[in-house]
Amino acid sequence: AGANADRDNSLATERLLAADVRRLWHPYTSATQPVPCLAVSHASGVTLTLEDGRELIDGMSSWWAAVHGYAVPELDEAASQQLGSMAHVMFGGLTHRPAVRLAELLVQVTPEPLQRVFLCDSGSIAVEVAIKMALQYWRARGIEGRSRLLTVRGGYHGDTFGAMAVCDPVNGMHAEMFGGVLAKHLFAPRPAPLFGQPCAEKDVEEFATMLREHEHELAAVILEPIVQGAGGMHFYSADYLRRVRELCNQHGLTCLTCVLLILDEIATGFGRTGALFACDHAGIAPDILCLGKALTGGYLTMGATLATDAVAEGASGGRGAVRPVPLMHGPTFMANPLACAVAHASVQLLLATPWQARVRAISAQLEAELRPLAASSAVKDVRVLGAIGVVEMKEPIHMPTVSAMLVERGVWLRPFGRLLYTMPPFIMTAAELRRVTDGMRAVVEATESAQIGSGQRLESD
Ligand code: PMP
Repeated sequence: AGANADRDNSLATERLLAADVRRLWHPYTSATQPVPCLAVSHASGVTLTLEDGRELIDGMSSWWAAVHGYAVPELDEAASQQLGSMAHVMFGGLTHRPAVRLAELLVQVTPEPLQRVFLCDSGSIAVEVAIKMALQYWRARGIEGRSRLLTVRGGYHGDTFGAMAVCDPVNGMHAEMFGGVLAKHLFAPRPAPLFGQPCAEKDVEEFATMLREHEHELAAVILEPIVQGAGGMHFYSADYLRRVRELCNQHGLTCLTCVLLILDEIATGFGRTGALFACDHAGIAPDILCLGKALTGGYLTMGATLATDAVAEGASGGRGAVRPVPLMHGPTFMANPLACAVAHASVQLLLATPWQARVRAISAQLEAELRPLAASSAVKDVRVLGAIGVVEMKEPIHMPTVSAMLVERGVWLRPFGRLLYTMPPFIMTAAELRRVTDGMRAVVEATESAQIGSGQRLESD
């Protein structure tokens, strides 16, 4: 009977996968050439269990979000408690304790000038809201023409139209299909990958020149602080970020107020780089901050856009405006109580755990185990920052082959372009992380000995 049950189960899984291929769109795939997927049955700690019983150590934290791992008792408890009272209610004209508690906590843990919170439903939407706030900050006070954004090459801010328009305009994943219809923003060169060192003066000068030349039409600068994630996993100097903040402020001398600075901490927020927020490395604060991913510990979909009082008042038409201007954004699932309750529990849990020591230990281990791979003829560069370990290959990675190799070793990673990288949950043990880095080493060795060929350009490169 046991064997029959197993067979039934495997048949059911085959049917599931066939239906998946027929019915679903997965991220960054075409309908006519679906990429085979693995079916996950459940997850706990840092382990994903597949329907066929295989177990994989998740070196991706579910796209950088599940910092506490899976099946986290504190988060489960927060979700079930909240389910007991209300899963969702509209936020128009109504409020609730989970939203207010979360907003208070976010204001408390983020840089001090950020005082007002817009709770939305994903990272990309947090960026859309930030862009709206920045444009409206000028328009609502009758200042025309300030509608462009200045950013740097190599960025990634999401897949919605406003966010796509500030992703890398040439190599970014949307450029080919949508480049022609996106808003035309301004792109300074990508800052040199100099984390831990002074920035390149040339980078600052070029940024400063663009800022000066376009100041009259700029609503804001938008950057991923320190880590450029999906645009290539580059880590730039904290100095550069500090200088950009200064430049934005300096322009306050000639304008009505400074050029606003939006920081997208969707990937970097909540400890990933070793600081609670990546802007802490530079000791600066943005005017507008975007959060997502690890905000709910990867449990539920939620983003947040935080603004200073000056931005919030400006976007409303200025303090004491006779007819205050509303911010026209209100998603149906805004401030979803379930997500708010879990996010609150997740941030509290992070603060209650020795996350800094854990990230430091992960960082040291990644450094020790990945750095030697830099000697391989297949590897262009190895970089480690906080709980992020990147091996940049010389050639694009053939994703299906490499994924299969890693899965065989019980490891889940999702390389893209030339990048083989891990962003493990902070709770990962040294032995588990060792299996992840061993998997990465095996990929490098197989590539070096030409056992696996290179792949197409996949996602962003
Ligand atoms: N900004 C950054 C820096 C990101 O890394 C991401 C997601 N990879 C986003 C925005 C978009 O977030 P979401 O996928 O939740 O829409």
